[in-house]
Amino acid sequence: MKNEKSYDCSKCPGYCCSYPLIEVSKSDIARLAKHFDVDYETAEERFTLYDKEEKVRGLRKQKDEFFGTVCRFFDIKARRCTVYEARPATCRSYPYVKSCGYWEFLKFERDLQDDEKFVAMTR
Ligand code: SF4
Ligand code: SF4
Repeated sequence: MKNEKSYDCSKCPGYCCSYPLIEVSKSDIARLAKHFDVDYETAEERFTLYDKEEKVRGLRKQKDEFFGTVCRFFDIKARRCTVYEARPATCRSYPYVKSCGYWEFLKFERDLQDDEKFVAMTR
């Protein structure tokens, strides 16, 4: 089947991986545990944090030059996910539709700057 995506994650700095909270379920943690060959408790502790405000568990973060913070699994040099096959369900379904608003924004700004590597900020 033809790939109908109108965005190209390989050319994007990874806006969606910089969300303040990237929620994970128990099955997401179990998948990560299997991927890293560790037990569930180790994966939960090592890869996630409980968000007291939202009352859910999310992926841990790391510092990032563009977004301030980004998911701990994001390769901040190559700008890509390092656990693609084992990524959480929310990452699999994002951006939920065939287009990505961030990509449209980025394309617009890159055309404007006439620079295909320009990293446009959202704030
Ligand atoms: S923000 Fe959109 S284009 Fe960029 S990595 Fe995420 S889904 Fe892909
Ligand atoms: S697990 Fe991968 S796709 Fe999901 S937020 Fe982290 S780096 Fe991005």
